[in-house]
Amino acid sequence: MSSQQEAAGAGGLSGVPAASFTAKEDGAAVEEGYSGDVEVGRGGAGAVRRYFVRTFGCQMNEHDSERLAGLFESQGMVAAGAVEEADVVVLNTCCIRENADNRLYGNLGQLRTLKQRHPGLQIAVGGCLAQKDREKVLERAPWVDAVFGTHNLGHAAALLEQARARGPVVEVLEAAEDEADEFPSALPVKRELPFSAWVTVQVGCDNRCAFCIVPSVRGKEISRPFGEIVGEVAELAARGTVEVTLLGQNVNSYGRDLTVRARSRPDWKACRYETGEQWVEAASPRARPLFADLLRAVSGIEGIDRVRFTSPHPKDLRPETIEAMATERAVCPHLHLPLQSGSDRVLSLMRRGYTAERYLEKLLAARAAVPELAVTTDIIVGFPGETEEDFGRTLEVAAEAEYDSAYTFIFSPRPGTEAATWEGRFVPAQVCAERFERLRSVVERSALRRHEARVGLVEEVLIEGPAKKGGPGVFSGRTRQNKLVHLEHERLKAGTLVEARVEQAAPHFLKGKFLSVLAPPRHRELIPVMVS
Ligand code: SF4
Repeated sequence: MSSQQEAAGAGGLSGVPAASFTAKEDGAAVEEGYSGDVEVGRGGAGAVRRYFVRTFGCQMNEHDSERLAGLFESQGMVAAGAVEEADVVVLNTCCIRENADNRLYGNLGQLRTLKQRHPGLQIAVGGCLAQKDREKVLERAPWVDAVFGTHNLGHAAALLEQARARGPVVEVLEAAEDEADEFPSALPVKRELPFSAWVTVQVGCDNRCAFCIVPSVRGKEISRPFGEIVGEVAELAARGTVEVTLLGQNVNSYGRDLTVRARSRPDWKACRYETGEQWVEAASPRARPLFADLLRAVSGIEGIDRVRFTSPHPKDLRPETIEAMATERAVCPHLHLPLQSGSDRVLSLMRRGYTAERYLEKLLAARAAVPELAVTTDIIVGFPGETEEDFGRTLEVAAEAEYDSAYTFIFSPRPGTEAATWEGRFVPAQVCAERFERLRSVVERSALRRHEARVGLVEEVLIEGPAKKGGPGVFSGRTRQNKLVHLEHERLKAGTLVEARVEQAAPHFLKGKFLSVLAPPRHRELIPVMVS
């Protein structure tokens, strides 16, 4: 991978790339207390059970939580409005943020109090930290009912049932037992936003970045069958979804393993959906779909107006991908390309597989091909052994790259990673803090410049809903470049495509004037699929 997910590997955050600079605190809300004595919806025997899923970490985890929600609803459960109302609470964990375990066990401590008040409450822990800690979770928090890992998300409901009958259960697998578990795409999904959807195209990662725990907890890189992805997007389009974000840890190396895996089966020609028709017929055993082919196939689906992807790795950014971005109208002009460091020495220590020069060449090529391209990045400050000279290179490269925004992180060691063992080379906290500020001013300058260049332009904005700030009558949405825009209007439904003139620019967002509705929302509400 590489992106916010990847940056999360270094410093952690969640969320779709936005015009923000500082690291998002994905755990901020998590520390809220579970106090209160709300009994709403907590029924007796026969009452409908309510679930509450709390997500830590990256988009991959957020999408996994959508699948958990869909799974529970397919079992007849309903979403609880608040954790205090739930009969089942799932913590979908991430181990790539600093202090992830403190955060998890802090949350579990609060849930213990809740469980003492409501003995019927079931607590489950899933995701990356569960994959890493396994039985340790139950040792430290014996009031937990079920622990599941990253490879058996689809077993969550069954494990909770098992725990109801026989007591706490831990099931963490080294790898998925079958392909359906690798990509729990057969699970029903309760999507957060009906007009915009994440679509997993790949899981795991074959790289070994020195700061990242992802390969240990998500396993080796596995591409999802080509036909299955295209099928899911077509189905989403038929339901009125207009935007899809293709998700992978290292998304632009998609397809590397597909043909090899398919050809290992005796009946592989029958599995055309695995690699896509044209590669099944290709004479060369090396023929396989590229990420660019996937981009083109998904962009060609009627009804899909916006295709995004995250997170690409600079070393795997091929000319074919850039060309697909330039020629496919649906592919949005936004590239999140993690730099991590501008120093070749540090990049080598990180095991990133590219130099700053090569990175900038690729960026230049992408900008030349896609003139409206917005570029965002992730940068780690204070990687072990980073000297003032190394950091100076990062400032130079950041200035040259002219980012639209950057997620920046101060290095903090993740247990289980190579870099965590380099204590002797850790950069003092004060030095890191000072470098962080210097980098921030460089990135904010370019972000503001690039945003100011949008003032006066008419942008297509996909409305996401009422603005979090600004009061009633203010709505927020995203431009094709993924820039956050606030605009005033009496009432706009989420999923409406509007035209707005940009009137004001700030480093992290734009303000626009509503001009017209381009298209009303096309989505229908999703009804979870019942499974037997
Ligand atoms: S190891 Fe893989 S997932 Fe982790 S930062 Fe490197 S490319 Fe991204």
